Amino acid sequence: MTRTIEELIPDYLRGLPVYVPGRPIEEVERELKIHAVKLASNENPLGPSPKAIEAARAALGESHRYPDGGTHLLRDALAKRRGVSREEIFVGLGSSEIIDLAARVLLRAGLQGLTSEGTYAPFSVAIRASGAELVLAPQSDFAFDLKTLAKAITPKTGVIYLANPNNPTGTAFGAKELEEFLASVPDGVLVVLDEAYIHYALSVGLSDSVEIYRKRQNVLILRTFSKVFGLAGMRIGYAIGRPELLSAMNKLRTPFNTSGVAQAAALAALDDVEHVKRCIETNAAERKRLSEGLTRLKLRPVASEANFVFIPVGPEAEALSDELLPLGVIVRPLGWMGFPEAIRVSVGTAEENEKCLSAMARTLAKRAGTSELAAR
Ligand code: PLP
Repeated sequence: MTRTIEELIPDYLRGLPVYVPGRPIEEVERELKIHAVKLASNENPLGPSPKAIEAARAALGESHRYPDGGTHLLRDALAKRRGVSREEIFVGLGSSEIIDLAARVLLRAGLQGLTSEGTYAPFSVAIRASGAELVLAPQSDFAFDLKTLAKAITPKTGVIYLANPNNPTGTAFGAKELEEFLASVPDGVLVVLDEAYIHYALSVGLSDSVEIYRKRQNVLILRTFSKVFGLAGMRIGYAIGRPELLSAMNKLRTPFNTSGVAQAAALAALDDVEHVKRCIETNAAERKRLSEGLTRLKLRPVASEANFVFIPVGPEAEALSDELLPLGVIVRPLGWMGFPEAIRVSVGTAEENEKCLSAMARTLAKRAGTSELAAR
């Protein structure tokens, strides 16, 4: 037999795009000999709760042991908090793992996975990696168009991915729109409702999606500890869903998917309500500062319900991001996410946002060949 290993890789995997992570801050600083602020990966600029750090430190001493593979303590705490049973909670290696597992469990060749254009790229990757066909519905005004999405459902649709708020555009839909959409989804189609940024969505009147979940058999809610809880580096997230689906996902996940340190940190972070509140309030105030500052620079940021701001800047988006680098500001050009004319800036601390705004002013002024913008 003359087959090569490469030939064993199925065609639907060969064509997959590679996830493009934000550049490591250390690399940029070393290369450009600058001190940089990283506003490229929607992280929590206030860091983890001190209580989570303490709990993680304590758990480190047990690192010679395997962690609790059933994440009992954390699942119990989450179940109590969210008003569901332990069997309805699945803890994953970030919500990223759960995005992937939902597709692996439910999709295959001959079925379709549906999502929107201009949303979190790993949804499309998960669908395509399952061998299913990826169907993308268009957005409207940089937001999920749930009516158009509903029309794209076919008898082959197995899973639909929604992000609320959406990454990278920062827009969100409300409970009423969601309920109307769900009413048009057949029971045999799973709706994955990714709420990574839900804590930051203050103005769209969102009720607790668990209420909605209770009324439907076919909703999987995803939450993460990476954003408002400030634990992105720990890699831990969770889902609320039907026990039958979660038990199939349990069969596919690796036995010890989340570390004991991450579990301990997540448990302590959940309890630090004060820290979460501070993070939400700081984000709201700083998002306002950033958005208003960008508007003063004659940019048109999309109103954000998340911890980042999406800014359509034109065909020079990539060049603009590159020019911000030597000024010590790392932002995200969005060509790889389907928006070659936009950048995304994560909301930082007041100091970081000021640095970003002044670097942006200098860069735009230089581009315009005038210092007029910088003076504003
Ligand atoms: N879902 C959305 C919409 C995201 O933007 C992100 C990360 O940025 C994730 C999920 C992944 O989160 P996690 O760190 O829990 O894997």
